[in-house]
Amino acid sequence: MSYGSEATKKSNKKKRELVGDEVYLEHKRDIQMRCYWKNLDWSRQYASDFGRTRRYELKRQVLLGYGHRCSCCGEDREEFLQVDHVNGVPEDERRSYAGKRRARISGVELYRKIISLGFPADYRLLCSNCNYSFGFWKYCPHQIEFSLFDLVQSAKEA
Ligand SMILES: [Zn+2]
Ligand SMILES: [Zn+2]
Repeated sequence: MSYGSEATKKSNKKKRELVGDEVYLEHKRDIQMRCYWKNLDWSRQYASDFGRTRRYELKRQVLLGYGHRCSCCGEDREEFLQVDHVNGVPEDERRSYAGKRRARISGVELYRKIISLGFPADYRLLCSNCNYSFGFWKYCPHQIEFSLFDLVQSAKEA
């Protein structure tokens, strides 16, 4: 493969004009994904090296800022913890960047926002199980279990 040679650049430009931006970018993404799978070991290593650096530091700060545990079940292992929007995604986080199909900010951008605002109550931590359940079912089974437990306890005490 010869990436970046003048001839390649010229021919790519021609192709792009021929098929239109959308088809061209779709095709380009397709090739990028194929490269990703072809160099999977390298890609994984790169992703985990990167993850351990800046992004990880920011995430850690956010986790610590919110007590480092799932606000539903108390799970405290960082691998499971995610940031959840208590009242849905606010308007200023909904964006779509040209070419990047992204409905909202996430990751580093979101961590920076949260840290700069001083860990507002609009966010909370959930583990991935609880997050999924709230997202899909609008409740988490833990809540039912905990309230049953409370009921049983109060019945015992009565
Ligand atoms: Zn949980
Ligand atoms: Zn839960």
